[in-house]
Amino acid sequence: DMTKVLLSRDVDSVSTFFPPCMLNLHQNLRRRHRLSHTQRFHYSLFLKDIGMPVEEAVGFWRAEYRLHPNGNHSCCHNWDKDEKKYMYGIRHMYGLEGCKKNYASVSCQRIQSIDNSCSEGGCPFKSFDYDKMVPLLKNCSEPVLSQISELRRKGLYTSACMLFMQNGDTMSENCDNFSFNFNPVQYYRIASKIKEA
Ligand code: SF4
Repeated sequence: DMTKVLLSRDVDSVSTFFPPCMLNLHQNLRRRHRLSHTQRFHYSLFLKDIGMPVEEAVGFWRAEYRLHPNGNHSCCHNWDKDEKKYMYGIRHMYGLEGCKKNYASVSCQRIQSIDNSCSEGGCPFKSFDYDKMVPLLKNCSEPVLSQISELRRKGLYTSACMLFMQNGDTMSENCDNFSFNFNPVQYYRIASKIKEA
């Protein structure tokens, strides 16, 4: 099916369909106007793969990187100062610069395998403690939260995420096969279908 074009100005409204890992990055970016290199890479690729064209990506990142983190006006990383670098970085990700590789967005397994203990990103089901995870799980009922805790204890982080996505409904598909290659882009596609239906 055709991916809908995602405009920069619509990111806040579609973020209700984001998986908790990407919602977390989005909120961090809106709050602090910066992300670390790896997290910026993961989030940009996600936005690209859910339908954001390169010119919208430039507008999206420029708007944030023109703002000063925490009101700190002496911060050295700034769009206007480093425009060339940021433009190159974005175009590179879209396969328009350098080796012209079309990067695919990262899988859940990859996100979960990175040590996120001192990082702003990661899979909340795996790397966040309960109190940091829960605010990212909007409208999650108590029974589903306790099932999620149980799956976390068993190390079944992706299954916990899928349970949250379906808000506790029984899976129609074989969850084990499905979760093996799961990634945040798939989450978004399914979640936006479920919630718009
Ligand atoms: Fe993101 Fe995957 Fe973790 Fe869900 S299981 S929060 S999609 S990394």
